[in-house]
Amino acid sequence: MSPLLFYDVGKEYVMLENANLPVTDLKGVGAKTGASFQKLEIETLQDLLWHFPRDYMRFEEPVKVADTRAGEECAVRIRLKTVSEVRYVRNLKILTVTGEDDTGQMELTFFNQAFLKKVLFAGKTYIFRGIIEIRGGGNAPQLRKMKAPRMFHEEDYRALAGQLQSIYPLTKGLTSKQISKAAAAGLKTASWLPDCFSERFLQESHLPSQEAAIRGIHFPQDEEEAQRARRRLAFEEFFFFLLLLRKNKELTESEANAFPMIETADPGRFIEGLPFRLTAGQKKAWKQILSDLTGDRCMNRLIQGDVGSGKTVVALLALLLAAANGYQGALMAPTEVLAAQHFQTVSEYIRSYGLCLRPVLLVGSMTAAEKRKAYEQIAEGSANLVIGTHALIQEKVQYHKLALVVTDEQHRFGVRQRQALAGKGLQPHILVMSATPIPRTLAIVLYGDLQITAIHDRPAERLPIKNCVVGDAYHPTAYKFIADQVSQGRQAYVICPQVSANEEAEDSELENVEEYCEKLRSVLPPSIRTEYLHGRMRPADKNRIMDAFSRRDIDVLVSTTVIEVGINVPNATVMMVENAERFGLAQLHQLRGRVGRGEHQSYCIFFTSKEDEKTRKRLEILEKSNDGFEIAQEDLRLRGPGELFGVRQSGEFAFRIADIYADADLLTLAGEEADRLLKDDPRLTKPEHQRLREEAAQYQKNSISFRSI
Ligand code: ADP
Ligand code: MG
Repeated sequence: MSPLLFYDVGKEYVMLENANLPVTDLKGVGAKTGASFQKLEIETLQDLLWHFPRDYMRFEEPVKVADTRAGEECAVRIRLKTVSEVRYVRNLKILTVTGEDDTGQMELTFFNQAFLKKVLFAGKTYIFRGIIEIRGGGNAPQLRKMKAPRMFHEEDYRALAGQLQSIYPLTKGLTSKQISKAAAAGLKTASWLPDCFSERFLQESHLPSQEAAIRGIHFPQDEEEAQRARRRLAFEEFFFFLLLLRKNKELTESEANAFPMIETADPGRFIEGLPFRLTAGQKKAWKQILSDLTGDRCMNRLIQGDVGSGKTVVALLALLLAAANGYQGALMAPTEVLAAQHFQTVSEYIRSYGLCLRPVLLVGSMTAAEKRKAYEQIAEGSANLVIGTHALIQEKVQYHKLALVVTDEQHRFGVRQRQALAGKGLQPHILVMSATPIPRTLAIVLYGDLQITAIHDRPAERLPIKNCVVGDAYHPTAYKFIADQVSQGRQAYVICPQVSANEEAEDSELENVEEYCEKLRSVLPPSIRTEYLHGRMRPADKNRIMDAFSRRDIDVLVSTTVIEVGINVPNATVMMVENAERFGLAQLHQLRGRVGRGEHQSYCIFFTSKEDEKTRKRLEILEKSNDGFEIAQEDLRLRGPGELFGVRQSGEFAFRIADIYADADLLTLAGEEADRLLKDDPRLTKPEHQRLREEAAQYQKNSISFRSI
């Protein structure tokens, strides 16, 4: 058996008998749609059926205009009074219509849908569905608006009433409707293999079969069916994750320390030289690492510490000890931007303290010649610290004496990387650093293959961050505030949920990085340098922008959540987030962690256009607490069972459908079931476990492919 695969079934395994059927063979999927599917990495029937919706559109009975509430999504039945001419504003075509029912008036605005001019007529009645905004109030008359609502003819809407319609992650040229149609055709054609779990187990656990779950996730009859389907798929995801984790643990527990180290003076000298004193938590973590590295077992340790708790220094101490013992170390980051930043930090420390580290950077945007040179330095050992992104470090590099691998902000790489490195005959110490705020009980399950050290404290001299949750009307004040901070020499981040306009028709009301950057340039004083950053830019451009920001050549950085993890620019004091309701609280907490890293007072401004009670309550948790664990737990408590798909949590546990907070009960169940199974049949060789073995192999294969941000 290859050390890379615990469950090698000797073939490219799949979930369906005809899983590899090309999507273009399905009825109604032509070459053009096929090409769009390819952009979503959907090529086969299996890819298609495992492309899950991210939410559902519901078609409730329309409500009266006067009963609508700001921030809520609803349908209204409106008789049109006026239809404007199409206006052109920059690259947008804007159409405004007004109308009413017997309780009130409403104004509707459409973007880049000029064809509606030919479809909408004054005097006729239509149904519009969208998010309500309310302007005015107090003494001024209230004006209710919807931006970019969906328009339905009465009879079409009635036909849809009571249904849930899937909303999918999309790409240009593809609509949710097209995916639904293809999924329906796919379900007709799919030939199902027996379920990997026994009927009895599924019944006892109240979980549907895989076939029913896949059907139910795409075409649920009601909320309940969608929820049941989601739970089965979440269970499956946890189960195979934990199964492999358990195997991984077996593998690592037995390993002797192949790179024993002795304590040298270097780390101590570095600590003495630092401009700050280590916190008690940092000291404890370092002590444990030191005892691991000098002990007789191979280290597999997780350092769990909230954002800003100072994990980097601890990792550097370990890497320094490895270097002082004549070994090599590697520091892996999930993004190039973060890798480049680590390289810079280390280089500065070396300049200031004359450390015995000789670092080399290894990222995808380097030229072939640069990479070759780095490979050489690593292979011959003239570099003793490799800093880079995961895939590069693992796949191509030949090491001289790799003794320690540190993984920053991405635990799941830890599991795979252990396997990948073992596959190359390497058995280094592993140190994983994580800021994912999870309670200890969950951590023990999720990080089951690692020893855990938690850093609970934070550097003492930090001023607490000041937070506020505000609505649209606060924008001018916020812009003035940013301008003011910049004039004092500080910098600011602005986060938008989308990269550019019209990524998805349904989401056109969300702010996007490119247009927002333009807007800021026009409202802020011209001396303020504003740039943008997002994941679709070329890595070299991302690095250039991030570099310029950390050198203070950029004052305001408009970005997607690519800057969410790890980035450290202590001079930045403002974090402003648009459409904050679109993010998970844990993620917002991570974003907030980008400020308050230096001596200056820092501020967080969360904008939300959703003024409903639930959204405000959720966001207020952030105002009240600065503790990542507490925030995640409160978020879970407030979310309750109503929400089918949780907002995306931090990328570290990027399960496709499972949510570690909302599905904690399934996580426990999956852990118990994995234990029971492994006790009964550790290699899954019993005939009744054949399907489990095949699906484990499939899961394993998928989880070894790397995803970069
Ligand atoms: P994280 O745990 O989020 O990775 P970092 O390691 O990036 O945090 O540390 C955040 C900032 O705090 C860095 O600028 C670092 O130099 C500084 N720092 C680390 N430890 C301390 C400390 N004990 N006292 C003061 N500042 C510290
Ligand atoms: Mg960090």
